Amino acid sequence: MNICDSEILLSILAGAGIVQCDRMEDADVIVLNCCSVREAGHEKTFSRLDYIQNIGLDERIIVICGCFATQLDGSLFKRYPFVDIIITPDRYRSLPSMIKKGEQHVVLNGSLLNEMYADIVPLRTIEDTTTAAITIMKGCNQFCSYCIEPYTRGREHSRDMESILRECRNIADKGYRELTFVGHIIDRYEFGFAQLLDKAAAICPKLRIKYLSSHPLTFTDDIIETVKRHDNIMRVVHLPVQSGADSVLERMHRGYTIQQYKERYWAIKREIPDMTIVTDIMVGFCGETDEEFRQTLDLISELAFDDINVFRFSMRKGTSASSKYQDDVPEGIKIERYKAVYELSEVTKYTAYSGEIGKTIPIIVEGLWPGDDQFQFGRDHRLRTILFKADDELPVNADAKVRITEVTGQVLKGVIA
Ligand code: SF4
Repeated sequence: MNICDSEILLSILAGAGIVQCDRMEDADVIVLNCCSVREAGHEKTFSRLDYIQNIGLDERIIVICGCFATQLDGSLFKRYPFVDIIITPDRYRSLPSMIKKGEQHVVLNGSLLNEMYADIVPLRTIEDTTTAAITIMKGCNQFCSYCIEPYTRGREHSRDMESILRECRNIADKGYRELTFVGHIIDRYEFGFAQLLDKAAAICPKLRIKYLSSHPLTFTDDIIETVKRHDNIMRVVHLPVQSGADSVLERMHRGYTIQQYKERYWAIKREIPDMTIVTDIMVGFCGETDEEFRQTLDLISELAFDDINVFRFSMRKGTSASSKYQDDVPEGIKIERYKAVYELSEVTKYTAYSGEIGKTIPIIVEGLWPGDDQFQFGRDHRLRTILFKADDELPVNADAKVRITEVTGQVLKGVIA
């Protein structure tokens, strides 16, 4: 979501003649778009500010924005007196005039609930890439007890469908291959998520479409049927479960039971057997016992998720968990549980991937594999990462077919067929 916001911000600034440069050292204005979801985001912001000071760029106009800015007040200026402007995500239209006026030590915050920047065409600076994203809704009404997002992004509000479809066409015209709809609980898109998917898939037949994230109570049958009906909607859904224990889900205020989650999981697999289901697991939430954690491992073994994002819980100030519970699982136990989930997810993924050896799978090429430029990589219709030898370097966004010869815990490898 912050990436989408950055592209909107670039467009607003460019409209006022403030254009992006390649190196921070060359900039008159330095904008830090900062995330508040995890503690690491805060630390990163402070270390980046220290860095700016250490290399002598603190005389430039320094702006802090993003959802992190909603948690700040003027006290930050005491620690970092060279910061000029703190501005929250709903207020970006005001930034160019603030910069031009040379405002200093100003905090512009407060939520403008309907601000979706629907009339702004985002400035997508990385044109030779595969995917473009559109935020279709922001905010969240779920109030999971550990999560800061409902406080930083506000309540759910959706962008009108016509402006989204206009942007979809624009993305297709620019030659992107893939479109990602973004929202906190995307299925709760106010004007009908199944209808939006249906229309976008029909008017942009050459784009393949994905979306994140979904919720087990709102990923309904009509969404599943829409996905099934359109070949250009990708066979992948991000359906976070977080824990395998009902008692933990209740403390987390996730709003569903494991039985309800499983019912949705099997409804998807029944209708679309090859759908990739990606989940999130959070280990070490307040009071998580060995038994509750064992239930999480049991769930992973039973459902054999295609992919798992695993996180260690860290308490966020201002959430309901911080006033109701203790962050009482020792760090060492969190690390052990993290490793256990990670290792089990590698086993389930390896087992699922092993069945793919010998098959030929169509992909869209995304470029050289980071970390080993002997390989290129692409992703298939199920969002699986597939590597192949970079001998005949294929251009980004080319269609290719890869015959799978090898499997690792994380990726499929093969040769161009
Ligand atoms: Fe946060 Fe829960 Fe909403 Fe996700 S569903 S954004 S975790 S409150």
